[in-house]
Amino acid sequence: MTLRHVKTPPGMCLFCGVAGSFKSREHIVPESMGNDVVVLAPGWVCDECNVAFSATENRALSRSFWGLERARLGVITKKGKPAIAKLGRVTYSALPHRPNTVLAEVHKAGPLMVWKDSSRTEAQAFIPFEREMAVDMSRVLLKMGIELVSVHSWTSTGRFPDCLDDAKTFALKGEGLDWPMMILADVTIESRLRSLLLQDQMAWREARACSFDLFLHEIDSELVFFFRYGSFIYAVPLRERSTSWTKQLEQWGARFLAAPGPYAALSWPKDSVEPADETMPKALKETT
Ligand SMILES: [Zn+2]
Repeated sequence: MTLRHVKTPPGMCLFCGVAGSFKSREHIVPESMGNDVVVLAPGWVCDECNVAFSATENRALSRSFWGLERARLGVITKKGKPAIAKLGRVTYSALPHRPNTVLAEVHKAGPLMVWKDSSRTEAQAFIPFEREMAVDMSRVLLKMGIELVSVHSWTSTGRFPDCLDDAKTFALKGEGLDWPMMILADVTIESRLRSLLLQDQMAWREARACSFDLFLHEIDSELVFFFRYGSFIYAVPLRERSTSWTKQLEQWGARFLAAPGPYAALSWPKDSVEPADETMPKALKETT
């Protein structure tokens, strides 16, 4: 996929199919995540779909740990300030004079979700994976995957793929059963994946400098989109709400950190049982 070389937009929205001349450029990875590399010229996504996705992206960025990663990576906002994240009652921002892995926290009065060990050298943040957060993240991931597949299909065959209708509906409306999505706790499986950006070395380097990368793989007859952002990799199936592909990822040694409610059991180690209530930190329990 060499987006710089994608020159002729179809003049038809790849999501809703409406034809026309559209004004909006489409950032495949949200601009607020620091992306100015993988961008589609006007003519691929209609202005209405573009605006609708911006709202979903803003929600996902402001109330999921994407916001936390964005602050940790020191993304600079359009207003020229370091990004901040607000989760629960805690505000996080990168400390400009320290390495960008250091986050400052500001707690408002109330239950805290951040613990430091007694040596004060380590901190753990527990972030509840709430349903609304999971739905918005799934929708943004689907949006990215659908755009990548559609652009590839259009430039190679002159048609949009017709196997993505369910994913498009969920990406646009978020209705129906939650869409499966896996958050991988480490990036070691990246060695199994091949970046879509590698054909354009400059784009690939720029994307890596922004701490993201994009991958598409056929696994167990499912088309799976992988998105790396900061310290995590996110995986989402594009054809249907399938989960059989996760077995292959397990064989690769992937550790699943979290998945939306209906699929949560897949993210627990096979030899363990559902986490008991006692394993949840006391202070976190009090916030829920
Ligand atoms: Zn549209």
